[in-house]
Amino acid sequence: MTDPENTSAETLMRAAEIGKRAGLRYVYAGNLPGMVGDWENTRCPNCQGLLIERYGYLITGYFLTPQGCCPSCGASIPGRWDPAFRRQITTGPFVPLMRPQSDLPVLNS
Ligand SMILES: [Zn+2]
Repeated sequence: MTDPENTSAETLMRAAEIGKRAGLRYVYAGNLPGMVGDWENTRCPNCQGLLIERYGYLITGYFLTPQGCCPSCGASIPGRWDPAFRRQITTGPFVPLMRPQSDLPVLNS
């Protein structure tokens, strides 16, 4: 086997910390579920309030206001947000071209 080793949780967390120290505002490490502590979540860069809670790529909590703001301090969070979390389009880690047919949009003809 000549493949490189998988990235360890320690390396992911160290990379996330480096990114945050460098000024990145929405860093999370999402591909080792349950192994990177709070780095799985997205927090408000202004007050550190919890915005999106994850287990790996699975969203377990969605706390943005209907206007896309932090519920704790009211800071506007850049992005396209639904007024409320409806559902996640995948139940597992994203795998290109493996999207279930039932999740594809229905096009009107
Ligand atoms: Zn906040």
